[in-house]
Amino acid sequence: MKQILKCSFCDRAEGEVDVMISHRNAHLCNFCVDHANSVVRADLKERDEEPFVLDWRSIKPEVLKKKLDAYVIGQEQAKKVLVVAVYNHYKRISQSLIYKAHSVDIEKSNVLLIGDTGTGKTYMVRKLAQFLKVPFCSVDATVLTEAGYVGEDIENIPGRLLQAADYKIDAAEKGIVYIDEIDKIARKSSNPSITRDVSGEGVQQGLLKLLEDTTVNVAPQGGRRHPDQKLVPVKTGNILFVCGGSFGSMRDIVARRLNTGQLGFNAMSNHATDAQMSRESLLRRVCAADLSAYGFIPEFVGRLSVIGVMDPLGPQDLRQILTKPKNALIRQYRQLFAMDNVKLVVTDDALDYLVEKALEVKLGARGLRAMCEAVMTDAMFMLPSQDDVKEWVLDKPYMVQKLNPSLYTKQVA
Ligand code: ADP
Repeated sequence: MKQILKCSFCDRAEGEVDVMISHRNAHLCNFCVDHANSVVRADLKERDEEPFVLDWRSIKPEVLKKKLDAYVIGQEQAKKVLVVAVYNHYKRISQSLIYKAHSVDIEKSNVLLIGDTGTGKTYMVRKLAQFLKVPFCSVDATVLTEAGYVGEDIENIPGRLLQAADYKIDAAEKGIVYIDEIDKIARKSSNPSITRDVSGEGVQQGLLKLLEDTTVNVAPQGGRRHPDQKLVPVKTGNILFVCGGSFGSMRDIVARRLNTGQLGFNAMSNHATDAQMSRESLLRRVCAADLSAYGFIPEFVGRLSVIGVMDPLGPQDLRQILTKPKNALIRQYRQLFAMDNVKLVVTDDALDYLVEKALEVKLGARGLRAMCEAVMTDAMFMLPSQDDVKEWVLDKPYMVQKLNPSLYTKQVA
């Protein structure tokens, strides 16, 4: 009877692995090869690593904002808040490196961005990290749970950053983490719960440690820890955390605090723009007390001292997002078409219609991409094999047909 080989390291049997390498009486499976590889890489990086330096003098807030302006439409106040926070953060890090014995200890300020989905929260932070050339990762707060519970461990976050930093620990320790949907980990009820709230308050407690300053021992290749795995210590004190969320009922909380009687503000004003203005001005007045009332523990609120509010994207903004930024959607499609020697022409009324539809689905700029794909797919499928077509015009009737297949069938029937 054929003997079943088992990996000498993890004991997995032949049938459980893709490849088993054998030499004399020793066997090594592909999982352990991957694991060994990442341990060796992390160890070498640890020894050779050059310190990661970011000169704060080169990232003046106005310069950073100008760079953001080329990609992110609108959001003037949030951009300012974010670039100042970033500038101060890296100044603070430099201070602790250069003037170790400095008498004034600048405290770390993490950032909270409040605003509807698809308004550019993640995009803005990702772009900033790109300009600064610092490692960046984005995580979703809704999948986080306390260590040991089902879901993703909070402690994996520094691991994700280490991965993004190509395992350079010093760079990872100065990176930026964006935590999305932070409003979803608010305490569910206003009374502290008797049962353990592992995905709400428990996660806040766990995140608090990261936001403050702790050392997390990270498994270099991510995932669950292995008992005999070499762990890499990552300090979180100099990582900038930016949290974002839409905070649906926050306006009511602010209104209640201000006692403006604007609960159900939509009913307050018959004039849509007035209502919209009061909506946004309420959000701009969010303070720590409102975040506590929303269901955040005071220590967590204390760690998010900088608050930026995103503006909702109106038709003008969406229209600009389609064509104006350096990598605007329509520019991207033009480039794709040009590579097949086809000139893409999009008419103004087609763009207006696209914006109108995107506003209907209330996904901000997020809806634009999915709609563009739906509109362009057929053309992108056929045009590459039609050598005689040199120009393709995307007009409103074509857009209507692609975005409303059922409506179109009715019209032509
Ligand atoms: P949020 O994090 O607020 O839900 P995202 O930042 O993920 O939204 O936005 C989704 C996409 O929409 C981005 O990748 C970007 O292409 C586009 N987008 C959103 N807001 C803007 C904006 N203000 N300017 C330019 N593009 C934007």
